Amino acid sequence: MSAETDNGKTIRVTNPADGTVVGTVPVGTAADVSAAVDNASGALGKWSSLLPRERGKILFNAATAIRQDRERLATLLTSEQGKPLAEAKNEIMGCANVFEYYASISGSIKGDAFPRSDYGYSITIKKPLGVCGAIIPWNMPALIMAWKTGPALVAGNALIVKPATSTPLTCMEMASVIRQAGIPEEILRIIPGSGEEVGSAIAAHPGIRAVSFTGSTETGRKVESAACGTGKHLTLELGGSDPMIVCDDADIPAAVAGAVAGRFYNCGQTCTAVKRLFLFEDIADEFTAALEAGVAGIKIGNGLSPGVRMGPMNNGSGRERIKELVEGIRESGDGTILTGGEIPKGGEYEKGYFYEPTIVTGVPAGSPLMREEVFGPVLPVSIVSGMNEAIEAANSVRYGLGASVWTESISRAAKAAEEIEAGIVWVNRHLKIPPEVPFGGEKASGTGRENGIYAPDRYMTEKTVIISP
Ligand code: NDP
Repeated sequence: MSAETDNGKTIRVTNPADGTVVGTVPVGTAADVSAAVDNASGALGKWSSLLPRERGKILFNAATAIRQDRERLATLLTSEQGKPLAEAKNEIMGCANVFEYYASISGSIKGDAFPRSDYGYSITIKKPLGVCGAIIPWNMPALIMAWKTGPALVAGNALIVKPATSTPLTCMEMASVIRQAGIPEEILRIIPGSGEEVGSAIAAHPGIRAVSFTGSTETGRKVESAACGTGKHLTLELGGSDPMIVCDDADIPAAVAGAVAGRFYNCGQTCTAVKRLFLFEDIADEFTAALEAGVAGIKIGNGLSPGVRMGPMNNGSGRERIKELVEGIRESGDGTILTGGEIPKGGEYEKGYFYEPTIVTGVPAGSPLMREEVFGPVLPVSIVSGMNEAIEAANSVRYGLGASVWTESISRAAKAAEEIEAGIVWVNRHLKIPPEVPFGGEKASGTGRENGIYAPDRYMTEKTVIISP
């Protein structure tokens, strides 16, 4: 891991590119979670009684503060997470966009009114739930924190955030920037610490009314179990194995660029990365040759160095899993390693968790590369005879997060959008999601949606009032 504890008292966060210490944070405990719940409960009245537009203004100021501080925050993010600086800046600017979006809809959070009945007039009003929790992964720590913080705070709640052990620093710095814009410390509290201790304490605490969790499907199930019996509202954003289908009428250069960016952005550690590539047979040879050329142009290195397009993986255990999967392909012969497939050697590569961008062709449906979530820079490629076979293959795994189809045909696009089991289907692109668009998964990829105008509802309850005239 790129984080270790010193005597169980502090977490030492190290740079996955070179092992240097980036910073230390205290190890949080279940008692810290309980104290944070008590403090938040005491401070809630003032925060939740602000006009929603007043909370919106504070979030707008937070967005401005994040933009102004983007260089420092992005450099910190690259140093603890590993991603290239350009990607880190993109992520920090994405956080500002999310806070601005929730500021912009703050005055539109509303209930409903119904026609007069025999009993009188009926309305519903929305109320904040109270103290809520957020559990964050390491792959996009800042953006995923913003996806939870924006809607929870604009709705008038307090939020206790547990960042991942390997990437707590950017979340903590972002929280302090946001607080300077006027959000009280008790209302936004970050508690670093292990998932087993702090994460499960957040999931199980009876005073925490909602939890939004982003992480692997397996951990999501543990969060569900810990929350069981507490009556919490749960939003689960879990793993994915997104298919990308390239039809024979697709714009090949655009699709190749989409596959390279879609798989190797963030060193392949994105929930909605392209994790399985299905090519129509007529274009397979041309596409694969162009893909290999596209991957050859990816410069690997420390994310802070100019020109680097792919940093190290975030942690040693993730790289070990990728290495095992690729070794498994070598041993079984279930696929051909077209390019990559090794840990790069020499110089700076010896100090970090680097892995070459890898393409494996001819991967059968039963291979672990096709069935598991591959969370690193390895792209398995398979050839399909047409759309029906592609959709069947796309739907054959337990995940249902994202998918993309690349075609000039509106009817093919419509068929894929209708039939692929996923929370989001892109046509002629992959990956990017604006803050106003709902996002989440189907099947083992989760329940509930983040982003968009309805996200604050995940942190609110509805009260019905009937007025008899
Ligand atoms: P993990 O599931 O390992 O961890 C996620 C978070 O949960 C971390 O903060 C972790 O803490 C914490 N955690 C671990 N154990 C528990 C527990 N028993 N109870 C409560 N919390 C716990 O995921 P990763 O951090 O490895 O992130 C990668 C995964 O996240 C991938 O599967 C990816 O697809 C998914 N993801 C999904 C997204 C979506 O929107 N659907 C978006 C981004 C990522 P710690 O590690 O510090 O101990």
